[in-house]
Amino acid sequence: MNPWSIFASAGAAAAAGIAAWGAVAPSSELYGPTVRHTISPKKIALTFDDGPNPAVTPQLLDLLDRYSARATFFLIGKFVRECPGLVREMSARGHLLGNHTETHANLFLQSRVGIRSELERCQAAIAAATGGPPRWMRPPYGYRSPLLGGEARRAGIAGVVMWSKICWDWKPQPPQRLIERLASVARADRPHGDIVVLHDGDHRALGGDRQHVVAALEHWLPRWRDAGNEFVTIESAAGSPAGL
Ligand SMILES: [Zn+2]
Repeated sequence: MNPWSIFASAGAAAAAGIAAWGAVAPSSELYGPTVRHTISPKKIALTFDDGPNPAVTPQLLDLLDRYSARATFFLIGKFVRECPGLVREMSARGHLLGNHTETHANLFLQSRVGIRSELERCQAAIAAATGGPPRWMRPPYGYRSPLLGGEARRAGIAGVVMWSKICWDWKPQPPQRLIERLASVARADRPHGDIVVLHDGDHRALGGDRQHVVAALEHWLPRWRDAGNEFVTIESAAGSPAGL
């Protein structure tokens, strides 16, 4: 084999690897700045993806109220259209709503037109339910694209939100496993606070089972609160919006 072809394919593989890392690694800013942690170690930003979910979200709202916790929900536009009353209630109870695209599309694989449509339709769904479009978005699967920053800005979005703690909670599981994974949240030896990704919904359909998330938070919310932590939305967690 021609050694140059080996070199060329190794180079292509490396370039593809970097592109993929840039698309999904929470710490990567290859495709623009993102919010990845809160401004203080005592501020925890709980974020919930893939809702609204009538089977779980109402329970979660009651639990969060019990601990005066405000959270951020990244919503799927097509589900928002199915339960606008629940979305209105989430907003009325002090939580921040964010854009998680219309159909939970992998934006890395979308054209500019596709990204625009995914963002704009979700913005419109949330605005129709609550009276205003969201200012923050989280890309499904964490997959970004070089086109995302420009299209997000165009849709009126101030910042792309990633995370510092992900918990593999998107499949039904015994709560104990999730409780153990959450044990590293709000450790005192860090300069910043955690942005935690959890799921109140299942992007494939309404009604997904996320009882393990509710149970794990029933365990941790009082403990985090008693340790002096505050539960904040992304709006206050980020300080100022991350410029796109
Ligand atoms: Zn998602």
